[in-house]
Amino acid sequence: MQWFKSIGNSLKIDRLANIAKDALWQANCPLCKRPADGVLCKDCDRQITACQSPKFLQLDHPISLDIQLYSWGIYDGAIKRAIAACKYDNHPEIMEAIAKKIADTWQRSPEAKALTQRAKHLTVIPIPLHTNKLKSRGFNQAEVLARCFCDRTAISCMPQLLKRIKDTKAQMQTKGKHEREQNLAQAFAVPSHLKASERDVILFDDIYTTGATIREAIATLSASKINVRGVVVIARPQFKA
Ligand SMILES: [Zn+2]
Repeated sequence: MQWFKSIGNSLKIDRLANIAKDALWQANCPLCKRPADGVLCKDCDRQITACQSPKFLQLDHPISLDIQLYSWGIYDGAIKRAIAACKYDNHPEIMEAIAKKIADTWQRSPEAKALTQRAKHLTVIPIPLHTNKLKSRGFNQAEVLARCFCDRTAISCMPQLLKRIKDTKAQMQTKGKHEREQNLAQAFAVPSHLKASERDVILFDDIYTTGATIREAIATLSASKINVRGVVVIARPQFKA
């Protein structure tokens, strides 16, 4: 903030306030660093929109008989870069721009509407990070996404219903099915004082790959009478048949 102090000596306070206001309102796009009116510039926003999946509901890949997967986009190109910039380049605000797109799609989806109408005390739960990872990253991208989505859809958001109690390795670093399963076993817990609240939930995460993390979270929640009715992610890779 040295620049702020030095120009403060030569400028009147109101002029300084305007400069600060402009700097805040016209923050550069976190993806291309060009000036942007919103979180992202129009060009990057368009590139992300181009990654939208033709179908929101992933009928080819249900999580279980009665739990459907909803994926907004295909994990590639601009959406892949945006998620990486959010997580590894400290730009949680990117989740706000993406949550707006998911909320619009959710509100237009007949299947999502039916799920909302059927549900009892519908609540969104983001897949949690372990405290160690939360400390090093500073935020949980799935929680930022879920909170922004809930602000727009008026669905309640309760990240406190699920904790990550085991500091698991990234699934990419595990070898073989057995190690992957062991890595995630008992990774999650529902805090005991919240176990009595029977409700229907939608789980939120950024990327869906093997689904192992999601399945482990569902098993933990089900054991506490918290019924997962759907899983929403930003994107999943497109698997070629
Ligand atoms: Zn941009």
